[in-house]
Amino acid sequence: MNSKPGSVMDATSTASNNMVEAVDVEAVNRADDRHLFESRKAIHPKLAHGFFRRIKWAALVTMLGIYYILPWVRWDRGPSAPNQAVLVDFPHQRFYFFFIEIWPQEVYYITGLLILAAVGLFLVTSLFGRVWCGFACPQTIWTDLFIAVERLVEGDRNKRLRLDQQPWTMGKVIKKVTKHSTWILIAMATGGAWIFYFHDAPTLIKQFFVLEAPLTAYIFMALLTGTTYLLAGFAREQVCTFMCPWPRIQAAMIDEDSLNVMYRDDRGEPRGPHKKNESWEGRGHCIDCKQCVAVCPMGIDIRDGDQLECIQCALCIDACNGVMTKIDLPKGLIAYDTGKNFAARAAGQKQKYNLLRLRIAMYTAVLILVSSIMVFGLLNRTILELNIQRDRNPLYVTLSDGQVRNGYTVKILNKKSTERVFSLTVKGVKAARMRLIGFPEDQSPPLITVKPDSLRAVRVFITLPALEPGAFSLPVTFTATDIGDRTTAQTENVFVGGKP
Ligand code: SF4
Ligand code: SF4
Repeated sequence: MNSKPGSVMDATSTASNNMVEAVDVEAVNRADDRHLFESRKAIHPKLAHGFFRRIKWAALVTMLGIYYILPWVRWDRGPSAPNQAVLVDFPHQRFYFFFIEIWPQEVYYITGLLILAAVGLFLVTSLFGRVWCGFACPQTIWTDLFIAVERLVEGDRNKRLRLDQQPWTMGKVIKKVTKHSTWILIAMATGGAWIFYFHDAPTLIKQFFVLEAPLTAYIFMALLTGTTYLLAGFAREQVCTFMCPWPRIQAAMIDEDSLNVMYRDDRGEPRGPHKKNESWEGRGHCIDCKQCVAVCPMGIDIRDGDQLECIQCALCIDACNGVMTKIDLPKGLIAYDTGKNFAARAAGQKQKYNLLRLRIAMYTAVLILVSSIMVFGLLNRTILELNIQRDRNPLYVTLSDGQVRNGYTVKILNKKSTERVFSLTVKGVKAARMRLIGFPEDQSPPLITVKPDSLRAVRVFITLPALEPGAFSLPVTFTATDIGDRTTAQTENVFVGGKP
C-alpha cells in the first residue's frame, strides 16, 4: 500500500524497517501529533444556475409543499370518521390515507408500503445512481433551504466567506441573528407540520397556542425543531458522509451501467488556465476554474473521481456547463454517464446504455408483485370481520339439569362508516341453544347493532344436552350476516364438554 511522505504509515514503516538503527524519534512524534479526524471546514456553496438547479428548486418546492400542506387537506369519510386526508390516529388505532383506512390488524399494508419504498429506491439507484440523495432526501431538501436562507441574508459564497472572516460588528451580528432566527422559524414549522399528521390539524393548532395541546405534541415539536436546526443548519454534509448508512449500502446497487455524475477526464485533461484566443491544441478542456468545486454542497472536487461524499446533486454539471458555454466549448465535460460508456469512449468505441439488466428486471418484478398483491388486497379487503374467543377457564360448565354450556366472546368489526345490524347464527351442533348476554331471549336470530367504524364484543352462551359419556369436542361455525346488504363473515370454533 502507498503512503504519502510524512504520513502516519510512512513514519511507522520507516521505524519498523530499521530495527537495528536508531528510531527516527522526530518522525514518530510528528506522527503522534497528527489527528485521525480533521475538524470540519465550513462549506459555503455558490449558487449554481442551470437545468439541474431548476430541477432541485422544483423538487424542493414540491416536497416541502406536500409536507406542509398535506395535514390541512380534508377528506369526507362521513360523520363518524375524521375528515383529515392523511392522519395517524393513535388513540383510535387507525391510519387514514385519503380513501384508505388501515386498521391495526392490517398493518401488513404498511409493511408492503415500506417494501415498495425500499425496492423502488434500489431500482432508482441501480438506474440513476444517488438521485434520491441529490434531489429528494429530506436532509438534502432542508439543507438546500437553509443554504438558500443563508445566501439571501449573507450573500453568495464570496460574501459569506468574507463575512465569516470579518471581526464582529453590528452589521455582522444583525445578519447572523436574522439567519438563525429564520432557520429556527423554519425548523419550528417543520416540527409543527409533523405533529399535525397525528391529530386533527385545525383543532390542534388552536389547542397548541393556548397551551392545551397534548404534552407529546410539544415534546415532538421541540425534538424536530432541534434536529432540523442542527442537521440542516450545522451538520449538513456531515450527515450524508458520517451519519447516513445509505452511501455504504447503495454501492451494492450501483454497477457499470448505472448513471452517475462523472468528470470526463479523457476530454478535460491535461487541465490548466486558458487565455482567450489561445489554442486548445495539446491540452484538455478543463480550465481549472474550480467552479464545479465552488457550487458543490459537499465541498468535493468531482475531478478526483468517484467519492463516497458525492450525493450526485449534479450542480457541478450546471456550473461546468456554464463555464463551457462562456468559453465556446461543448457542454458535458461533467455529465451523467455510466462506467461502461466512460471506458468505451476512452477506447474510442460506440457508447450504449444498458437499461435491461438482471438486477433491474428483478427489482421491477418485486415491485410489480408487491404492488399487485397490495392493490388486490385493498380492492378485496373485507368491511366486516368476525372473531370468536372461547372461554378457557372453565372450559365448559355442566348445569344442574345435566346440560353442558360453553361461553364465547364474539367480536364483530364494522369497517363501514355507517351503523350496521347483524344477525348471529351458530351451526354444527344440533339442538344447541344460543343466548346473548344483555339481549332479549325471544329474538331469533339475535340482532346486534354495531356503530360505524367500530368493534362490538358480545358475550354468548351455547348450551347442549349432555352427549355420550367421556369428553367430546364438536366443530361449530358462527356466522354474522348484515341484515341490510347481506354481507357475511364466518368463523370456526369448537364446543367442548364431557359426561362423567
Ligand atoms: S468547472 Fe469545468 S472547467 Fe472549471 S474546473 Fe470544473 S471541470 Fe474544470
Ligand atoms: S461533486 Fe457534483 S454531483 Fe457530487 S455532490 Fe458535488 S456538486 Fe453534487
